[in-house]
This record gives sequence, structure tokens and C-alpha cells, in this order.
Amino acid sequence: MAKRLRSHVCGAWHEGNGDAVAVFNPTTGEQIAEVNNSGLDYKAALQYSRETGGPVLRAMTFAQRGELLMAMAGAWHEHRDELLAMSTESGGNTRGDAKFDVDGATGTLSAYARIGAKLGEAKFLIDGDSIRLSRSPRFVGRHVRMPRAGAAIHINAFNFPAWGMAEKMAAAILGGMPVVTKPATSTAVLAERMIEILVEKDVVPAGVISFICGSAGDMLSHVVTQDVVAFTGSADTGCRIRSGEAVIKNSVRVNVEADSLNSAVLGTDVKHQGETWDLFIREVCTDMTQKAGQKCTAIRRIFVPEDKVEDVKADMIETLSSTRVGNPATRGVRMGPLASASQLEDIRSGIGELQAVADIVHGEVGPGELMDTDAESGYFQQPVLLQAKDPANAGIVHEREVFGPVATILPYSGDAAEVAALMNLGDGGLVASVYSDKRDFAASLVTAVAPYNGRLNFGSKKVAEFSMGPGAVLPTLIHGGPGRAGAGEELGGIRGLSFYMQRTALQGDEPMLARLLEDGAEV
Ligand code: NAP
Repeated sequence: MAKRLRSHVCGAWHEGNGDAVAVFNPTTGEQIAEVNNSGLDYKAALQYSRETGGPVLRAMTFAQRGELLMAMAGAWHEHRDELLAMSTESGGNTRGDAKFDVDGATGTLSAYARIGAKLGEAKFLIDGDSIRLSRSPRFVGRHVRMPRAGAAIHINAFNFPAWGMAEKMAAAILGGMPVVTKPATSTAVLAERMIEILVEKDVVPAGVISFICGSAGDMLSHVVTQDVVAFTGSADTGCRIRSGEAVIKNSVRVNVEADSLNSAVLGTDVKHQGETWDLFIREVCTDMTQKAGQKCTAIRRIFVPEDKVEDVKADMIETLSSTRVGNPATRGVRMGPLASASQLEDIRSGIGELQAVADIVHGEVGPGELMDTDAESGYFQQPVLLQAKDPANAGIVHEREVFGPVATILPYSGDAAEVAALMNLGDGGLVASVYSDKRDFAASLVTAVAPYNGRLNFGSKKVAEFSMGPGAVLPTLIHGGPGRAGAGEELGGIRGLSFYMQRTALQGDEPMLARLLEDGAEV
């Protein structure tokens, strides 16, 4: 019988009754779990988080919150093999893709734990220096950032059930806010087990982490002014969450990480099969196939100078053709299935939509040749590379995120201003990459494309050896992007704490303010 996944709220496990939503192994199509959280009292869950978890965390120093994050990372790491296997079974991830998610989760917690250790015995942040406000040097102003007194509600996408949950938790907990986290239902198996491990080992004080498995129900109608909501998922759901009545009425802070048509540009200076060329080919192909292209940061639009298109196509096709697709548990398989039947359907119709303005130059709609599994049962789609016929008028290529192993080559003349304008048709992205060894070319793009992107990645022969590619989201750098990408911002080391803290100006007698700030850490 399929395991019924549970929520953990108000300090206890909760399981609903009646018909449940089925959860499947995407490689075999077999049901592996079911979800039903009927009867869950969302209002009480949020209240418990605010009233039980909040005070505990706010009383802790940054160093203690950091130790808590380290203990969570340690508990998960002890179960690493189990979690990796579960990621493969429930998410269709190869071992490499599973590590990307699971080790990414523990790595991000550890990175924030180290920030906590550095901030030490403080409990809040001091933001900037003393500002003289009058003729008297005694009357001054300061700024502080205090943990907010509500619950941090986290709603995550299906593609990173481990990392997505952990990266949000890390900043919230270090910032001093208790977390109510909800994974996407289709891949909740892994997130549920990770919470179960924390509960079994009694790692986290009561109320610091609550877990909603299944529908978000009416949770967002119970938000109050001190709560925050951080969401990762589609732009449509993000829009619905932002426009919720209680969210608007109570001016609840919302952070949205949504769709993104990430771009990569090859510079005119890059020579065929040189170091920078090879880096470019490697990184665009990795982004297409890692996690079967289900990465928010994956390159979707590949801008190539017209005279280099044939060589780029040939090299990409060679790399993509050698990527073994199949059973993600089998050694040698580099790409597994999509995470769910609905994703497969969406990707296939997305490829059809792209074909209105682009030609397929490699692959086709369908699973292709599979290793160690059959095409009938799993949710497989082989990599598909397209080429736009008229990049400036390829509307759908710049607008529709096909969330799978799919990318489109867009030829350009070689002019930096032209390619910047084409990139910006994506109307806001998480990351854009420029591959060039000509500093002037990269520099001329920066002012034009930085306002449209959360991160810029410069690939060149100087960094080819060290580059981890644009797809990897690092805890030290901000993650998020304007416009279509949701206008959110997460991570970025200590910057990530801001969302969970209230900035307050203090004005008064300098020695008195200095006394008030004794428990703060200067940043
Ligand atoms: P989704 O359908 O929007 O779902 C995202 C989350 O929202 C799930 O947990 C879902 O729960 C929940 N949800 C759905 N409707 C809701 C509602 N009315 N109120 C509250 N929560 C609700 O997106 P997805 O298919 O999981 O994710 C794919 C998308 O995420 C892609 O477009 C991708 O670009 C984006 N993404 C962005 C980033 C980033 O960092 N910018 C990262 C990863 C993915 P259920 O599963 O229970 O329905």
C-alpha cells in the first residue's frame, strides 16, 4: 500500500482521511505515496508557529541559530544515502542530480550556520553607523534589523524538494523567524522524509519548523502583518498568492521566485573549440540535461553570432547525442525522466508552441532511446534543440518557459546592443551568461542587461577551469530576478536575512542608543 504522507503542525503529525492525491515514481509510473491533509487547521498551525517557535528563536543568539542549522544539516547528512535514493525514486533524479538537490540543501544550511557563527552572540543586526541629527553630537540616529514576530511561510516548487526547502529555511531561521514550509505535492516524498528525520532526532525546538504536506488550503487567508510569504513556482501561482485578500489587507511581505527565460550569449571573439568555446558548449548542454532541464536557472535561449551557428549546432548535437537518457538509478545514465505526467504533457505542448517560430535541429517530441527502462511507463522526454527563424519576432521563445530539456538557438549579427535588446525580450530573468574573452564586449552588455537579470555569469578562458556554470545557485550570491522571474531576492549570504527582519530607525541620546545596541551585530 502507498505510504500516506503526513504534515507536522502544532507539534504533532497530521494525516487526513478519505480520498488522496496519488504520488508516482516518474521512472516507472508506479504509485509510491499519497497525500491528503483534510482537517488540517491552518490557522492554528500558523498561530503555533508564531507563538511557540518565534519566541524560542528570537531568544537565541545568531551563533545558537547557526548551531541549529548545522545540527539539521548533520541529521540529514547521516541519512544521505537514503535521501539520495529517495530523490531518485520520487523525483526521477540521477545520482548526480540527487546530490545537486540533497547536498545543496545541507551545503546551504552549513553556509548559513557559518554566518551565524561569525555574527556570534548578537540577536539582531545593526545596520550602518551612527548618524548625527542635530547640533549636539549626542542626538543621533541608528538603524537596526530585528527578527519579525510572525511566521515565515514557505511554498516550494517541485523541482528541488530538498534544496528549495533548506535554502529558504536557512535564511529565515538565522534571521530569527519560525518556518511553515510546504513542498509541491508531486515530489513531497523527499521533503516529508527530511522533516521526519528532524522530528525523530528531536533536532529542532517545538514550533521552529512546521510542515504542510499537500494543499495549501486556506492557509494564506490567515496571514497577519508580521508574517512573510516566500514562494517558488510558476508565475501564475505567484500572482495568485500575491493578490490574496489577507496578504494585501495585512501588507504581508511576499517574495516570488518564478519563471525565467535565462539566456547565454557567445561573443564574436570566441574561436571554435578554444577553451571558452568548449566551456560554452559544456555549460549550455549541462543546463539542458541536468535534472532533465527542470532548473529555474537553466539556459533556455542561446544567442550565437550568425557565422558560428553551424559549428555551435554541430558541437551541441554531438554532446546531446552522447547523453544517455533512461533509468536514473542506472550507472551511466545522465538524464532521467521529468518529475510528473503533467510536466511531461506541459513540456510536449511547449515544444509544439516553440515550433511556430523555431525549427527543431536535434531531437523530437518523445522519449527517444532509453537505457534500462521502457518508454511506456515513465515520463521521459529526450533533449530537444531548436533554432529560431527570426529572433526579434520569436515572441513565444522569449515568453514561454518550457521547463524541461529544451533550448533554442537564436542567431544574432554580433552587435552587443542588438543581442542585449534580444536578451531583454525575456522581460526579467534569474541569470544571463556571456561567454567572451573580450572584456569590452562583456562590459558593453552589463549596463543594458543587468537591470533585467538577478545574476550575470561571465564565462571566459580565465575561469573555465573553475566555473560551476550559471545553473548552480550559491548561498553567497543573491538568487532571484526582476519581472517575469518574480522580482524576488533570496540568499546572498547575510543579505538573505533582510526579508525576515524589520529595519527600524532609532533616534535619541547616543549613549542610550549604544546601550540598546549591545545585543546587536554590526553588518
Ligand atoms: P506551481 O504549480 O506554481 O506550484 C508551486 C507551489 O505552489 C507548489 O507547492 C504548489 O502546491 C503551490 N500552490 C499551487 N497553487 C497554490 C495556491 N493557490 N496557493 C498556495 N500554494 C499553491 O509551480 P511548479 O510546477 O511546482 O514549479 C515550476 C515552476 O517553478 C517553473 O515555472 C519554474 O520556473 C519555477 N521555479 C522557479 C524557481 C526560482 O527560484 N525562481 C525555482 C524553481 C522553480 P501543490 O504542488 O500542492 O499544488
